Amino acid sequence: MKNIESPEKNKKPLYYYYFISILIIFFLNWVIFPMILQINVHEVPYSEFLQKVDSGRVENVEIQQNQILFTGKSDNGTDAIYKTGIIDDPELVKRLEEKKINFGAVIPKRPNFFLQLLLSYGLPILFFMGIGRLISRNMKQSAGKFGLSLGSGDSAKLYIPSEESISFDEVAGQEEAKESLIEVIDFLKNPEKYKDVGAKCPKGILLVGPPGTGKTLIARAVAGEANVPFFSISGSEFVEMFVGRGAAKVRDLFDQANKKAPCIVFIDEIDTIGKRRDSGISTNDEREQTLNQLLTEMDGFSSGNGVIILAATNRPEVLDPALLRPGRFDRQVRMELPDLQGRVDILKVHAKNYKMEANIDYNLIARATAGASGADLANILNEAALRAVRLNKSEISQCDLEESIEVVIAGAQKKNAIMNEDEKKIVAYHEIGHALVAAKQTNSAPVHKITIVPRTSGALGYTMQVDVEDKVLITKADALNRITTLCGGRAAEEVVFNEITTGAANDIEQATKLARNMVVKYGMTEEFGMMALESGGNRYLGERGYATYSADTGRRVDEAVLSIIKECQQNARDLLKANEPKLHQLADYLIEKETITGEEFMTILNAD
Ligand code: ADP
Ligand code: MG
Ligand code: ZN
Repeated sequence: MKNIESPEKNKKPLYYYYFISILIIFFLNWVIFPMILQINVHEVPYSEFLQKVDSGRVENVEIQQNQILFTGKSDNGTDAIYKTGIIDDPELVKRLEEKKINFGAVIPKRPNFFLQLLLSYGLPILFFMGIGRLISRNMKQSAGKFGLSLGSGDSAKLYIPSEESISFDEVAGQEEAKESLIEVIDFLKNPEKYKDVGAKCPKGILLVGPPGTGKTLIARAVAGEANVPFFSISGSEFVEMFVGRGAAKVRDLFDQANKKAPCIVFIDEIDTIGKRRDSGISTNDEREQTLNQLLTEMDGFSSGNGVIILAATNRPEVLDPALLRPGRFDRQVRMELPDLQGRVDILKVHAKNYKMEANIDYNLIARATAGASGADLANILNEAALRAVRLNKSEISQCDLEESIEVVIAGAQKKNAIMNEDEKKIVAYHEIGHALVAAKQTNSAPVHKITIVPRTSGALGYTMQVDVEDKVLITKADALNRITTLCGGRAAEEVVFNEITTGAANDIEQATKLARNMVVKYGMTEEFGMMALESGGNRYLGERGYATYSADTGRRVDEAVLSIIKECQQNARDLLKANEPKLHQLADYLIEKETITGEEFMTILNAD
């Protein structure tokens, strides 16, 4: 790995500063210093000098090589220094003696030429050079702080294939993405094969997917596999303090890349510079210039010469359409959240870096982590390793893994949160309520673990559900079941205590969100059918789109959401009432044990 120098473009050369310094020195020596020295010396004619001597108003006289300096009283009686020219006047000495004036001649200096030169020019030059150094070093330092590159640049990192580079094996569960990229790698390795047929490789490939799915990782793996130089830069690095640097950096980057072709240029987080140009109130000139430069550069080279540009983003919908048109980033590779098998593979890939016990059930861990990204899974493994170290173990066990899932998903276990008996009872019934409703609905996922040990995330209890298999499609019945399960906690409070608590806040939020999506997104109501009620919104970041309906329809949408939730809530209550003995039995057991497994739960439920 090595930094590539970018050409020194914006930098004033150093000799420019030296030239200015020398000009200043000469100016000082010739004009300013003499002026300062002369400022208090009055020049008078020789005749006046003689007059002053005669009238006794002169005190000291110094006869120099080409002038006479003397001190004396001026007309208004104050002391002053005078000078006058030299005249060949043999009488002068006599006159001065007569008046008893101190006088003398200065021995003409035979100046040490070199010493004088050194003193009047050399020292100042050295001084200025020192200052110049200091200034330029300071500028470089502060430039570093703000990420500005002054000359010896830091624009893009160049990775040269080495032992450190990673291979495709380290990216798990992204088979489709790998497949589309293998073609690119093949092109970089054997361009002739493609030229023969006349096939052109895509110039730009956009990696699209939610955060943590391995976009950056796969880009590095492509470089490793293709065995070509790899320039990597992050979108935010283009946009910096000084206007114009961004565009210059894009130019630099492509200059470098063209020299090293065939190679790969990777722009991470391209949305920072590639945002739609007309969007928003705050237009950013710098960003626009950078984007324009990028567009121009991408037009300026043909993929024939072997430069391929990869870019990654999790906000494809904000990108400028000009970036996505054919000839630029016309190919998109999707990196989705991993499915069950993908999660198992990712866990196994990362497990290689840790010391694991032999009998780990990765499948179980993967099933408990539906919706986790690759980065989450890597984090879970690391948390497990930390826990193993804390417990003075030399290997990671299944138990460590299960515990760390909860740490990552639900926040670390609170150390000494104290719940009084009443609270504990309510939380237990609430959690059992969820679990019981889930278990009693045929299609609901079985419960894996129920706990009433509080989490730092604020959740007082926690019911861990494990889907038997990953679901790509959710049926309407599934969705209703899920909402009913979410209502189960509150329903248990109502049925048992005839009282409600704040503990259901998160359930309410989730249930409402799902019910709302059923209405506006999935078209699962009779009333609206296939009508689209929302558009936009980032499907990766879970942003809500904007409503496309009128205020009047809005009221009906709210009513539809409300009626779904009310119905589910009633169902949950009914289910719990029908199973009240079991509810008490299970809750008692949970209060005693604090944590129970799915099997324990099912045994009690199915025992009669
Ligand atoms: P992104 O760029 O998509 O946000 P990264 O590539 O930075 O995500 O992934 C972050 C980390 O998560 C990686 O360094 C890696 O450890 C892990 N990771 C993510 N996806 C995968 C995957 N498919 N296979 C293996 N590890 C992964
Ligand atoms: Mg990334
Ligand atoms: Zn709840």
